[in-house]
Amino acid sequence: MTGKVWLVGAGPSDIGLLTLKGKAVLEAAEVVVYDALVSPEILALVPEDAELVNVGKRSHHHIRRQEEINQILLEEALQGKRVVRLKGGDPFLFGRGGEELQLLTEHEIPYEIVPGVTSAIAVPAYSGIPVTHRDFCSSVHIITGHKKKDAPLDLNFDALVSMKATLVFLMGVTALPDICAGLLAAGMDPKTPAAIVEKGTTAEQRRVVSTVAGLPEESRQAAIEAPAIIVVGPVCRLAEEFAWAEKRELAGCRVIVTRPRDRASALTDRLRQKGAQVIDIPAIRTEAIPDNKALQDALGRLAEFQWIVFTSPAGVKIFLEALRAEKKDVRSLAGCRLAVLGPGTRRELERCGLFADLEPGTYDGVSLGRALAAVLQPGERVLLPRAAKGNPEIVEEIRKAPSVILEDIPIYETLYEKSPLIDERAEFEKHPQTLAVFTSASTVRGFLVATEGLDVSRVRALCIGKQTARAAGEAGMRTYTAEKATMDSLEELVCRVHREMEEKDCGE
Ligand code: SAH
Repeated sequence: MTGKVWLVGAGPSDIGLLTLKGKAVLEAAEVVVYDALVSPEILALVPEDAELVNVGKRSHHHIRRQEEINQILLEEALQGKRVVRLKGGDPFLFGRGGEELQLLTEHEIPYEIVPGVTSAIAVPAYSGIPVTHRDFCSSVHIITGHKKKDAPLDLNFDALVSMKATLVFLMGVTALPDICAGLLAAGMDPKTPAAIVEKGTTAEQRRVVSTVAGLPEESRQAAIEAPAIIVVGPVCRLAEEFAWAEKRELAGCRVIVTRPRDRASALTDRLRQKGAQVIDIPAIRTEAIPDNKALQDALGRLAEFQWIVFTSPAGVKIFLEALRAEKKDVRSLAGCRLAVLGPGTRRELERCGLFADLEPGTYDGVSLGRALAAVLQPGERVLLPRAAKGNPEIVEEIRKAPSVILEDIPIYETLYEKSPLIDERAEFEKHPQTLAVFTSASTVRGFLVATEGLDVSRVRALCIGKQTARAAGEAGMRTYTAEKATMDSLEELVCRVHREMEEKDCGE
């Protein structure tokens, strides 16, 4: 059976500009063939078991030739796979999408095109530049500024100038002086507004607004690099007035959120809504301990326990799955009171119709242990099903209650993993301002494994609570701790640290 190819536009970078269809197709992919311009947060959507092929091309030293890419798509599809060819922006706008379809068509491979939001329009928009405006122009033209090595730019400047339109140049950073000189030589008013926008829709977006005569020099001074978009025309005059992206609370803020593989981060969405660029990376994976005799034994005598204590959502999930595997339902917990470490764990229980009887005011192991010790009656039996690498403090606190019997049973292992898609170490080395958000001590450990060799002393670690902060501090990171161990509080912390960094930048 032959497979199928989806030619998908990933948009300019911001994950929110990936289409719903693009996302659905990506999440079902078996092979993903992607370019350099696809952002890490979009790559993070690729399923863990999908095969990845990076064909990121840079001009003048192509990593892969186009024919090679065409061949890869064909071969993967012939093996019956669901192949996603993921490209920046829209696949048909200077994306060579057409060339890739040719070979597939010849071999009768089925395919679909998922258009994307093109950078030609979205990047100016994120800089407050509408590419058309009735007062200024009646057409917009999208032009490649790519030039072959040592060859002059092959553009009809007379035609471009005579149209009195908005001109959008892609791939034009190197050729910027030639583009502006060409337009001026063809008679364009030197005072015509012109702008260049670098890394549009990312946390590092920058723009320079000038005139056709002044842009090359101003862009050089600002050290603007690819990828960037050049816009020429009176609409550029609106940039300052309409600028909106930098006004978002977390504009310019780049955040890495590490989380367990099976749990999407609620924080990620919230930070994105405030304008942050968030890369959501699974750093740990939890796996139930197989054939767990100690747990099976405890499940066989649940009536003996007055309390069951859960310290993580993963613990709840794995415990209830084990209960089900023993052919017992939640009624077998009827005689037990339930204690949870915090709101995440409580919600996981609530999903199964179980309400917690005890939750400490501060969400950490010590507080939970103390809160429980305060209500325990002598001789009561407590079941603590949790991670194999669980924190010892909670146990010490519970044991302070007179003559309680505590059964601390490991039910899952926490495994650290390195994302095959995203080089976290490179992310931090390239973008040292990146904030790292940690929601547990084990995500800190996972991060250390994934970024091995990174000088973590410069990493700003934003931690949900004391234990997490301690792990980050011991590793040598610059630590910040949320006031309360909640997502709200962690979100506030990101805003605060970002604000402080901005103020410091302005002060320097
Ligand atoms: N198919 C893509 C364009 C590919 S050509 C699209 O529809 O957007 C690559 C060029 O796109 C880059 O040289 C640059 O000019 C532009 N580009 C892509 N993403 C960009 C971004 N985030 N910011 C600025 N320019 C970008």
